[in-house]
Amino acid sequence: MYTNYIWATNRKKYMKNKKTLQKYIGCILCGVAKNKKGVIKKVLYEDKSMMVIMNAFPYNVGHVQVVPVRHVRNIEDLTEREYSHLFNLIRKSVIMVKKTFSPVGFNIGMNIGGEAVGGSINHFHVQVVPRYVRDSGFMEITASTKVMPMSLDDAFDLLKKHAGILKK
Ligand SMILES: [Zn+2]
Repeated sequence: MYTNYIWATNRKKYMKNKKTLQKYIGCILCGVAKNKKGVIKKVLYEDKSMMVIMNAFPYNVGHVQVVPVRHVRNIEDLTEREYSHLFNLIRKSVIMVKKTFSPVGFNIGMNIGGEAVGGSINHFHVQVVPRYVRDSGFMEITASTKVMPMSLDDAFDLLKKHAGILKK
């Protein structure tokens, strides 16, 4: 995980608010699900049990997360129905991101077990991270800083054009 990013827009404001938000809301993903004020909500798909959202701390352009609406900590806490719905949405998210950004591949993953395993949010979710040729350069390797060639808002607008795939 990168410790710093270079952003074209909005990053500073968001970082400043993150800790305050966590204190105020508790779980940020529950905050997204419940439309809590102040939470960055970039939802591409949402129903009663699952949502697909933009990651506000993207590793790459087009990084999305598939998130159960209810607060579950572990994969085994999902019902069979939620589990298959979740994996269907992962598959559809891959198709959506491919159509939008034509990445060369993906890293798809989950951190289960909190901070000890690299997770920062105790609400189970799956990261769908597109990869591009040479997406790590000088800043990433030497300065723990991710250079983002596109703002979160612009990436969201582009993904929304193909978000209908998630509903099929
Ligand atoms: Zn939660």
